Amino acid sequence: MALVKYKKLTKSRGVTVPKDLAANVGLIGGTAVDLVECDEGILLRKHVPSCVFCGSIESVDTVKGKEVCAKCAGEMRKEINEKYA
Ligand SMILES: [Zn+2]
Repeated sequence: MALVKYKKLTKSRGVTVPKDLAANVGLIGGTAVDLVECDEGILLRKHVPSCVFCGSIESVDTVKGKEVCAKCAGEMRKEINEKYA
């Protein structure tokens, strides 16, 4: 059975993940996480980089602080080249 811990949110809705629970799933301080709304509440997981334009998780890189997939980057490159040619 999965380890379940009870924690209270801080007044600013923060929560500290217990060390043993975090270690069990490979989370260390400073790790980016995703908070995903689901039927049971909120799922906290390691951040999965996804494209800000199409949501793809394939070939995603960070450009100027935004995650963009190779396909969208190529489409932007083409569109920019056409506009400013
Ligand atoms: Zn994309």
